[in-house]
Amino acid sequence: MKNNKRVLAFDIGGTKIASGIIEFSQKGYKIFDYQKNITPKNKKDVIQKLVELIVDYKKDNNFEKIGIGIAGQIDYKNDKIIHTPNINGFDNLNLKKKIKEMIGEDVEIENDVKCFALAENVFGRVKNYHNIVYLAIGTGIGGAIEFDNKLYRGENNIAGEFGHMIIVENGKKCSCGNRGCLEQYVSGRAIEKLYFEFYGKRKKAKEIAIDSAKGIKKDKKVIKQTSHYFAIGLVNIINTINPEVILVGGSVVKQDEILQLAKKEALKRALIPGRKTKILKSRLGNEATLVGAGLL
Ligand SMILES: [Zn+2]
Repeated sequence: MKNNKRVLAFDIGGTKIASGIIEFSQKGYKIFDYQKNITPKNKKDVIQKLVELIVDYKKDNNFEKIGIGIAGQIDYKNDKIIHTPNINGFDNLNLKKKIKEMIGEDVEIENDVKCFALAENVFGRVKNYHNIVYLAIGTGIGGAIEFDNKLYRGENNIAGEFGHMIIVENGKKCSCGNRGCLEQYVSGRAIEKLYFEFYGKRKKAKEIAIDSAKGIKKDKKVIKQTSHYFAIGLVNIINTINPEVILVGGSVVKQDEILQLAKKEALKRALIPGRKTKILKSRLGNEATLVGAGLL
């Protein structure tokens, strides 16, 4: 036990805040006291919730550090959150400073998909690869690029934002202000919206994916259309970045069908040498971001 490190980790997404104590050992990691809370609608409440959780965890646990993965773009030089498309009011926020002021705790903050990449690189399926594209498809779409095992952030920290790759000219309006972004066609929210457009009824993305896999026609139509746009995104990534492997994670690909359909179409349409690209599903699943935040 002595060499094991315990940290508190958070994964702040547009719909939920996952948290837990992560114990790292030589063998791997274990998660304790895992919690999932709804992400509050406004900035003040999100910060308040976060602070409450830290204080609560401190009552019952020993941990050395706190790591936070957040769905947004981070300015690493100035420790600022640049933009969080799915969380209100976090733009230009120095969350690190804010938490320090409120409860005196030091936290490390990183983009959620970069956390996911970190965890996958240490514990996941891409340990032996060097040129990797990560895609996390949940409420929105996040991404990360690694060349020679080094994260490529880009000049202004937006490299790998594949969710905002335009795939439909003048398409659906995106939270980034643009139109036709991949995220508006392939994320969990996009699946739910498409179902509503088709049938005028609301249904959770998870249930749509499960029912489609069962062969229910209405749901299959939604999943098929979604996987087609997903394939276009994959082709664009393969043809511009030419990675060894694209590792896909997130709640949307929990059911295999959508990824398998997209993969099949993408590998038919990519430039011929790019058809060798491996497209793999993350095995760490939803907890990868949390574990990555713990690794910070
Ligand atoms: Zn966008």
